[in-house]
Amino acid sequence: MELEQILKKYYGYSDFRAGQEEIIRAILGGRDCLAVMPTGAGKSLCYQIPALVFGGTALVVSPLIALMRDQTAALVQNGIPAAYINSSLTYAQTEKALARAARGDYKIVCVAPERLCSPGFLDFARDADISMVAVDEAHCVSHWGQDFRPSYLQIIEFIAALPKRPPVSAFTATATEEVKRDIIKMLGLNAPVVKTTGFNRANLYFEVRRPRDKYSELTAYLRKNIGKSGIIYCSTRKTVDETAARLVADGFPAAPYHAGLSTEERSDAQDDFVFDRKNIIVATNAFGMGIDKSNVSFVIHYNAPKNMESYYQEAGRAGRDGAPAECVLFYSAGDMVTNRILIGRTDRDNPAPDASFKARDYARLAKMESYCKTTECLRRYILDYFGDGSPEACGNCGNCLAERKTVDITIEAQKILSCVYRINGRYGAATVAEVLRGAETKRLIAAGLDKIKSYGIMRGINPREIRDIIEFLTARGYLTATDDQYRLLRICQKSNEVLFDGEKVFMPLLREEPEARPAKPAATGAANTELFAALKKLRLKFANAQRAPAFTVFSDATLIDMMKRRPSNETEFLEVSGVGQIKLEKYGKAFLEVING
Ligand code: ADP
Ligand code: ZN
Repeated sequence: MELEQILKKYYGYSDFRAGQEEIIRAILGGRDCLAVMPTGAGKSLCYQIPALVFGGTALVVSPLIALMRDQTAALVQNGIPAAYINSSLTYAQTEKALARAARGDYKIVCVAPERLCSPGFLDFARDADISMVAVDEAHCVSHWGQDFRPSYLQIIEFIAALPKRPPVSAFTATATEEVKRDIIKMLGLNAPVVKTTGFNRANLYFEVRRPRDKYSELTAYLRKNIGKSGIIYCSTRKTVDETAARLVADGFPAAPYHAGLSTEERSDAQDDFVFDRKNIIVATNAFGMGIDKSNVSFVIHYNAPKNMESYYQEAGRAGRDGAPAECVLFYSAGDMVTNRILIGRTDRDNPAPDASFKARDYARLAKMESYCKTTECLRRYILDYFGDGSPEACGNCGNCLAERKTVDITIEAQKILSCVYRINGRYGAATVAEVLRGAETKRLIAAGLDKIKSYGIMRGINPREIRDIIEFLTARGYLTATDDQYRLLRICQKSNEVLFDGEKVFMPLLREEPEARPAKPAATGAANTELFAALKKLRLKFANAQRAPAFTVFSDATLIDMMKRRPSNETEFLEVSGVGQIKLEKYGKAFLEVING
């Protein structure tokens, strides 16, 4: 069978996405591969299709139990025999799964890395016909990555223990050079085909807000998005607990998730979310890796994360089904203070107080801060960061859509720059702002800062406004800030142009009001129709009957395509994106009835 036919038959899709076919062909040709694709780009298909084509059994190494369970459920839904082996199974269940795997009953076996070298699994793998090994979330093998997992180091040992080395492929969304190099080395990839696909996620809308009151901003947002699924990321467990409790008290279906909860509480929260029993999860960054829930409509960052890698990975959990989704970051200056503390701290999560790592982390934080403050296209900023830049502004982010009103701030800029000029390189933005508004603190007086000429020259101006202008000047390069945790302000060439050469400075008005955003295009409009509700209800019925997550029956994108096409018979039903042969057989009749009611 041609690859396209397999894609249609098992997955119901008509075209490969960028990179998929190339990787599939490389694996089928016996090559090792490293595929770097953003979350939601469709990595799973890249190893599942070769697994189907090859004889024998493919092994998929995957870090999280929940991911394996859901992935296996999705495979079985598509008519692909699969099983998983991890610590959630009892001894007897593991034995049974291995016995069936040894009989060759499965095309795909998902396995946790720590199980690979267990005697039972090794015995099975040595005798079985292992067609290939795919390593999901391969950045977990790298110390440079966000989520290093020591158990990933066993993968290379495991492969060496096999009687015949199968092609090994590695998949990740992390694109930094160090991580790529590490993956190739630590997994022992042999002259791999390396494929990095574009990082753009066109269906995601990006926005940064600076709410005066984050909580009321959040509830206003949630009220406008009732019924949709979303993740709210906070930087600390305490904020997670507090925010989730307040939301529940205010009647929102929210569940908290962080590493401080018991395993049971966490898996309950995760299931409630994945199975659409609760729409909102409030979580630390402990939540998400391996959450294969495709219909997440929004990801709100209640605090700015530590770096762009984390941000894009977390935000990228929205809209994996290709439907429009929103990634909104609530920024406050306090977030950066928290992040600096988190980076500086040494604890269980941060065991190696290695100076070079810390310097790197502060530099990454500085890039995150610039994202929060830039008035340029946010998508372009992200893509530039990941080395995938395009010169065009996207037209679908908060900054592109914001009304570009600007104000002349030349006078304010001159005052600020002249103050920095006098205390060049010795203080950060907070102190400079205090000097300018003439704060009478002991610290300023002790440092003699009340004696300098700039002291109090911006008295009467709202301190927040002074900070905003300083931030803007820094973001635009009229000032520089050191990359370390102190962020000391310095004069640069561009400051001199303003101070001495009469250059004027214009600043866009900062948006406080998110209301101004234009309405979104069709797809979510359709989401409100009765038909959509009826289709979702039917999907849930099937899902519940099989105790599988709803999206493994059909994704939201598939339901939306059904509404667009309104198929009236089985042939037309098969045209719907996401409907393959098996799903047609299982669900076609029932869905056609609802559509043509
Ligand atoms: P990743 O692992 O890269 O984050 P997934 O493999 O979970 O992404 O795929 C994300 C979504 O995209 C899934 O719902 C998947 O079915 C869908 N998808 C994958 N490939 C295609 C394709 N060629 N056409 C349409 N949808 C696809
Ligand atoms: Zn934009």
